[in-house]
Amino acid sequence: MDRSKLYRRFRTLLIANRGEIACRVIRTARAMGLRSVAVYSEADRGAMHVAEADEAVLLGPARAPESYLNIERVIDAARKSGAEAVHPGYGFLSENAEFARACAEAGLVFVGPTAEMMIAMGSKSGSKALMEKADVPMVAGYHGEAQDDATLAQAAEKIGFPVLVKASAGGGGRGMRIVQSAAELAPAIISAKREAKAAFSNDRMLIEKYVRNPRHIEVQVIGDSHGNLLSLFERECTLQRRHQKVIEEAPSPTLNMQQRAAVCAAARKAAAAVNYVGAGTIEFVSDGKDVFFIEMNTRLQVEHPVTELITGINLVEWQLRVAFGERLPFVQEDIGFSGHAIEARVYAENPRKNFIPSVGRIKTWHAPDGVDGIRVDAGYRSGDTVSPYYDAMLAKVIAWAPTREGAIDKLNHGLEETDVYGIVTNIPFLSALVTHPAVRANAIDTGFIERELKNLTAAGSVTAGDLELGAAVAIILADERDAADSRSPWQSFGWMPVGQRRRNFLFRQNQGGEHRVTLTYGNGHSRVMIGEHEATFGYTVNHEGEIDVTLDGVTSRVVSAIDGHEIYLRTRNGRFELHWVDPYGGEDEEQAGEDKIAAPLPGTVVAILAEEGATLEKGAPILTLEVMKMEQTLRAPFAGVLKKIKCKVGDIVQEGVELAELEPSAG
Ligand code: ADP
Ligand code: ADP
Ligand code: MG
Repeated sequence: MDRSKLYRRFRTLLIANRGEIACRVIRTARAMGLRSVAVYSEADRGAMHVAEADEAVLLGPARAPESYLNIERVIDAARKSGAEAVHPGYGFLSENAEFARACAEAGLVFVGPTAEMMIAMGSKSGSKALMEKADVPMVAGYHGEAQDDATLAQAAEKIGFPVLVKASAGGGGRGMRIVQSAAELAPAIISAKREAKAAFSNDRMLIEKYVRNPRHIEVQVIGDSHGNLLSLFERECTLQRRHQKVIEEAPSPTLNMQQRAAVCAAARKAAAAVNYVGAGTIEFVSDGKDVFFIEMNTRLQVEHPVTELITGINLVEWQLRVAFGERLPFVQEDIGFSGHAIEARVYAENPRKNFIPSVGRIKTWHAPDGVDGIRVDAGYRSGDTVSPYYDAMLAKVIAWAPTREGAIDKLNHGLEETDVYGIVTNIPFLSALVTHPAVRANAIDTGFIERELKNLTAAGSVTAGDLELGAAVAIILADERDAADSRSPWQSFGWMPVGQRRRNFLFRQNQGGEHRVTLTYGNGHSRVMIGEHEATFGYTVNHEGEIDVTLDGVTSRVVSAIDGHEIYLRTRNGRFELHWVDPYGGEDEEQAGEDKIAAPLPGTVVAILAEEGATLEKGAPILTLEVMKMEQTLRAPFAGVLKKIKCKVGDIVQEGVELAELEPSAG
């Protein structure tokens, strides 16, 4: 098709996505004077991206295949809203050639490459065949069509173990398995195929040599529809978990100027092989010395902000200008970078429980966006709900500074000042990660997180005499209890000298036991006592609701949120989630259900791994669930006999449903 028809000026843009990337695109569209149209599912009626857009169209039910992944419904939404162009974001339909084609056929400008370019680059196998011809350096591997067991086994043998089995259509690290020896190959292929089939409806596999001590280096490129193509330097995304990026930075601290020039040239060569139009990323794996092509992502990447911060280029603006049919405003020599940028992905997940996704209502969301060089791209606000239907990424915290060291410090500061209460997030884990000495020294590879997991997820608990914490708890609870009482001395100004008053509060921390705080106030000094420790104290509350607590003359800030008996606090000693034990409240202990084999979240049963009647060791796998696109294996919580399996492969199960019964073995 004639490119001038595909890329032309438009005024109304539909964003076929949700979460932070939809919000990010809407912001730039608005700044450029465009009208923005959001799409949403029934689960997202109240979502942030819907509120931010000028208009919004309901696509359908929560499940992505019936809403965000439904091409027909998205095209229909564009028609209904009078949109002339579609931005696909990342994930969902962003790399779906059929969608790009459907847009073109419906007369919509697709903000991205043509369907043909996507087909050429979209499959890892196909793109590697192309790169071979274009003479782009690649890892040894097999990316042929034949998929029978014998061919794959032979290919792996020839490449030499360890190898990486990968889904050709893969993304987000799914459908990928490291295989150390020939004996492990067949089961790895079966499980990778199952994951790929479920996630991408395509289970074609390829095999690559597993690069030792791998680093991930990628180059941002952008091409216009007039044959101009630029590279915008590289990003390093070596801090990964399960082949999924966690921290990304630009420029790469690993490359010298010469290596940088080489990888950027290789990326331009790769993109030029398909005369690429739009923003895209060429990904390489590196052994620290050489780089090898692994795939091209034909879309905007999650981590694009680090490139924006070092180059000063707004990539979404450039994407839209390219879609208008404009020429790129610069030539390669014009593009430079300065300083260092680093990004952390904030997820609703629990790093201490094998990163299981966390769903529910976000009671408090507070992030230091725009403060002191910190940028926060968020898709959620206070009061929003994280549903189990979509990716668990909530936001990205990004920092820039003249040096890498400075950027890391700033990022950590940004993470520490971010308060999310109501769901579990990986923020403490991210802080531990970016401040780890090996990360500061760039002495890492993609396996670093897995190896250091214990240290990165170590629990902080209330120390017996954490006075800031005790004082804050007392202040908040006293305030709460007096809130109904209009004569409350707490309401107006601290306290009044109405004689000596004493109050006791008991609070409990998940693993940290119970703590009693005693508050004495009235005539003379106010005092707080927690455990053996005691101090004089006073406080003020600022307009943000933060408490400045002064203990023995030293003032420090405490951020808090309270919800019934549950309290969230951030003191200078860390973040704490506490439960107030109300002596009059009639506490009933909730059954923890630790011993039940139950679905932790809504999901689909994808494999049964043990048989009824089997005797299982503690920790033995029982079944695998797919929860929020990740496979999660449920294991025996104790040694016993598997009495009953209460589900079958393919069952969609709700949260809390018991899936199997295990009888503890006697003795
Ligand atoms: P990137 O290099 O940009 O992280 P990935 O290949 O890891 O690219 O995937 C892009 C992002 O989109 C990831 O964060 C992934 O979790 C998310 N994603 C992928 N598929 C979906 C989907 N169907 N729905 C929502 N998010 C998705
Ligand atoms: P996805 O589409 O899921 O992003 P990629 O092919 O980009 O898949 O691989 C994801 C990650 O896995 C890479 O970022 C890299 O860290 C790692 N990886 C990929 N290929 C290799 C390889 N051949 N050797 C070592 N690590 C690899
Ligand atoms: Mg990739």
